[in-house]
Amino acid sequence: MKADNPKQTARCPHCGNTAAHEIKLYHSCSEVSYCHDDDSEYDLDILYYAATCGTCSGLSLYCTAFGEEPVLEDACLLWPVKSMLDKRVPAAVAECYLQAARVKHADPSAFAVMIRRALEALCSDLGAKKGNLHRRLAALVAQQKLPSILADMTSVLQAMGNAGAHGDTRSVRWSNVDDIDRFFRAVVEYVYVAPARLAEFKERLGRLGTCSARQLDAPHPPSQNPTMSKPNPALTEMK
Ligand SMILES: [Zn+2]
Repeated sequence: MKADNPKQTARCPHCGNTAAHEIKLYHSCSEVSYCHDDDSEYDLDILYYAATCGTCSGLSLYCTAFGEEPVLEDACLLWPVKSMLDKRVPAAVAECYLQAARVKHADPSAFAVMIRRALEALCSDLGAKKGNLHRRLAALVAQQKLPSILADMTSVLQAMGNAGAHGDTRSVRWSNVDDIDRFFRAVVEYVYVAPARLAEFKERLGRLGTCSARQLDAPHPPSQNPTMSKPNPALTEMK
């Protein structure tokens, strides 16, 4: 089965091109997993495979359930992880980020501009729809939807996006690209992924009858979190 389909067309997570890929390596194994409904243990048969891009020669690692056809477009991409956002991220934000990822290795200024758009989409999704990005971010901090430490990051991303949009190539360098990427992903992790994972965890605990689920539902006053006590001064100082 595996050797019959070694070449496929798929979007490359390295260069962003839709290009011919060649599957170079297969590995199947059985791994222990756990049922979320009753906590029972079972063996999960997985097929791993590595593919190289015909355009940039980048190597990517995928997996799928053993027995399924190894179709790159449908498989779970394990590496590289930087072009993916968690499935819990809203489509509008994820689409902006995907557009940014496509130019990440080609144009640092365009990447910064696209990330700025992704931030705008994030603000809209969280209900901050009025004003410029600076005001929208400040509103999210005031509403305690974004903590100060992440607001610092978003301030930097906004400044980078502005520099990219104005063609100031001195301000957006190749060495900035990975930092911009990491900062944006940290914001997304805080806003969307961590709360969703906590909710899912609590739901599973409740289904299993674990008393900890009730304990996790206990309210925590926002004022106990020092990072969310005040609007970020850096935001109020930006012009
Ligand atoms: Zn490629």
